[in-house]
Amino acid sequence: MTEKKHKLERLTGVKGMNDILPSDTGLWEFFENTVKAILHAYGYQNIRTPILEHTPLFRRSIGEVTDIVEKEMYSFVDSLNGKQLTMRPENTAAVVRSAIEHNLLYDGPKRLWYIGPMFRHERPQRGRYRQFHQVGVEALGFVGPDIDAEIILICQRLWNNLGLRDIRLELNSLGHKHERAAHRDQLIIYLERYIKLLDHDSKNRLYTNPLRVLDTKNPALQDIAANAPKLIDFLGDESLAHFEGLQSLLSANNISFTINPRLVRGLDYYNMTVFEWVTNKLGAQGTIGGGGRYDLLIKQLGGKPALACGWALGIERILELLRENNLVLSNDGCDVYIVHQGETARIRAFSIAEQLRNIGLDVILHCSVDNASVSFKSQMKLANASGATYAIILGDNEVWQDEVSIKPLRGNREIMDNAQQRVPVKSLVDFLAKVIAIPQKKEGISYNHK
Ligand code: ATP
Ligand code: MG
Repeated sequence: MTEKKHKLERLTGVKGMNDILPSDTGLWEFFENTVKAILHAYGYQNIRTPILEHTPLFRRSIGEVTDIVEKEMYSFVDSLNGKQLTMRPENTAAVVRSAIEHNLLYDGPKRLWYIGPMFRHERPQRGRYRQFHQVGVEALGFVGPDIDAEIILICQRLWNNLGLRDIRLELNSLGHKHERAAHRDQLIIYLERYIKLLDHDSKNRLYTNPLRVLDTKNPALQDIAANAPKLIDFLGDESLAHFEGLQSLLSANNISFTINPRLVRGLDYYNMTVFEWVTNKLGAQGTIGGGGRYDLLIKQLGGKPALACGWALGIERILELLRENNLVLSNDGCDVYIVHQGETARIRAFSIAEQLRNIGLDVILHCSVDNASVSFKSQMKLANASGATYAIILGDNEVWQDEVSIKPLRGNREIMDNAQQRVPVKSLVDFLAKVIAIPQKKEGISYNHK
């Protein structure tokens, strides 16, 4: 009895991990295509690392006293071999691990990018999920500030191409390690004066990671954080020159920014340049993405020392902004839906569909949904619902006469003389080439046979 009930129980997805349904994937693909085109335009190469990494990779890079490592990681022991594994909460550490492991920097610096899901055990809410997606760049082996400016320009171009105007850039410099140490001493003395007012997290971090207290989201601590000693006042000439160099490159490229002395980023590996892209349009989850330099990380993870910087953007938050802007995507239905009836028509329909795909058209061929034959009327309903531009109809009559009927389904009737017309099979390709703008070149491959 209980077993029967158990079988019928409907399973659901995991909380905070969303299905992205076909009604939404058009928007995702539009975003992915836009960002990929830009990354290629700047000469970045795609890298794909696994979802799972050894847990110490993240503990060592992100830092023990951070939100991610303290409370957000999906970590577990592989019951088959006892290994400590973690589902990546971010991807910089993994890209650096991979670059070291495969000696990617052996012939010079590398410009890399990635896209994919990340996992953090947070409280799900708008713009905050347990599986979410980031696109990111990592520029490994560059000293900056030119590369810092370049990766910021990439983001600005992305906002422009997506038509997003409400994203601001905030900048800061975290300087070198010894500069942060001098600031840290003063910051602790300052924060100790307010120790009674600090919240649990901030008290915990007072001596382990006081810089973190500055980016607290607790409204009650905003004044304390705002008046704290500023790291920027502790920067030496070299750090300041780097920071000013970046600012002038950004200004020369018409990128506006504000300097936010409290911007420290949520991960420990950053130094020198840090930045965030923020918007007021998404409520509490207003940070679209961020990044900065991490000059010590490669060495810290066991690689030959090399300087580096990068950013990561949260895709769900960007898509939310696109929806806020009422982005309308053009119809993404196929060019042609082929309806047919009878055995001969079916065989011919297959062959016509293949020929049309050969010339670059997107074609849906009607396939049986059960064993009964489906009326033309029902097939035409499916054709309409599919979003296709044209229906091609193959009945007995058409088959006898070596013809097809073509019916425009949406917004393109004016191109054809009348609503439906007959065309000989042998001139179908030429006919469609006239009425449909066939993409000049479909992606092709070639093999280098030895
Ligand atoms: P937040 O302060 O909002 O928690 P974060 O500093 O933890 O962000 P980063 O580690 O800098 O975020 O990640 C870069 C971007 O990834 C964020 O700006 C955001 O757009 C996105 N992001 C981070 N965590 C989530 C999440 N749980 N759900 C959706 N997007 C996220
Ligand atoms: Mg976070």
